[in-house]
Amino acid sequence: MISLEQNILRGIKQVLGNSKEFTALHEPEFTGNEWNIVKDCLDSTFVSSVGKYVDRFELVLAEYTGARYAVAVVNGTAALHIALLLAGVRTGDEVLIPALSFVATANAVAYCGAVPHFVDSDWSTLGINVPSLGEHLQQSSQVEDGNLINRFTGRRIAAIVPMHTYGHPVDMSSLLDLANTYNLPLVEDAAESLGSTYKGQHTGTLGLLGTLSFNGNKVITTGGGGAILTNDDKLARQAKHLTTTAKRPHRWEFFHDEVAWNYRLPNLNAALGCAQMESLPEFLRLKRQLAHRYREVFEGINGVEFVDEPINSQSNYWLNTLRLNEPSSQLRDLVLAVANSAGYQCRPTWTLLNKLPMYADCPRSQLTVAERLEASLINVPSSAALARNCYKSDA
Ligand SMILES: *Cc1c(COP(=O)(O)O)cnc(C)c1O
Repeated sequence: MISLEQNILRGIKQVLGNSKEFTALHEPEFTGNEWNIVKDCLDSTFVSSVGKYVDRFELVLAEYTGARYAVAVVNGTAALHIALLLAGVRTGDEVLIPALSFVATANAVAYCGAVPHFVDSDWSTLGINVPSLGEHLQQSSQVEDGNLINRFTGRRIAAIVPMHTYGHPVDMSSLLDLANTYNLPLVEDAAESLGSTYKGQHTGTLGLLGTLSFNGNKVITTGGGGAILTNDDKLARQAKHLTTTAKRPHRWEFFHDEVAWNYRLPNLNAALGCAQMESLPEFLRLKRQLAHRYREVFEGINGVEFVDEPINSQSNYWLNTLRLNEPSSQLRDLVLAVANSAGYQCRPTWTLLNKLPMYADCPRSQLTVAERLEASLINVPSSAALARNCYKSDA
């Protein structure tokens, strides 16, 4: 009998074909208007923090996501940092975040002087496990003077940050119910989920604030970049203010009214973003096609399953993901070794954040499911361009 790792490699080859010597996990694509628009930006000499492309990119993002406002910033981590501050997170608070996330989610909490409080994940959505979070809060927190207090640390719990893992939306209805029960704001880390919707609504627009990333490996890229989404005009104004050194608008005066950040997205990056947004629908169409092909092929392979979009959701399928049925990091590493040696860049999911040295002592709930996911998830090559060949190559 053929081993699981060889079987999985065969599946990947069936989807992607034998042709290339190296297939990256995720590559950006600049085959639309990028060269024209970036050239226009260079010709204008407005490459830095002022220029029409920043405004245009913000409008396009707002229109696309349905958020009333989008504020472009220098990267997704900065977006999350400012969104947390605007949600009221202060020094000494705790913020509920999934242990299974990219390190930026925890770092943004730490930048606020706050402490990440790790919660468990859901086996199918890969996002926050809402029933488990509900039980955890019931057992470990209490309301005092209108604040939710962690009974073990005495610290205030200030917000919840759901993260839409690899583009798959979190079960937002239940999470919103829970957040309302405890009067906690939601700041959605939608860095990975541009183009993903939950019950028809774009991820990042269901909470008080949401954040996007346009890093080189995301669905679209501005080189580096991010955005804050909100429907609240006061928060949007504050987001702009805090990310532009708190400078009071004036034709020549320098007057800054608080300590703030230089988190502006340069016009040059925004120009690239405008062009990439034109291609987004096509990227999403191709990524969905590629996901469909992975699903089809891996349905027939025992011991592993393709992570499908959750119910009530449309996923952007940013990174296609396989889940081993019997979570084992040994087995996972074997699959990774075989696939990478064959030239298909595959990666495990993140090391759980509570295992990183700087976050090892942070409070946390039971992380049973997150542990199992950590040992069983494998990302497989997911660039939109790969879909152009995937039905021609039954290797
Ligand atoms: C990419 C990413 C970020 C941050 O993005 P940068 O633009 O790289 O700062 C935050 N959270 C998650 C989950 C991400 O995947």
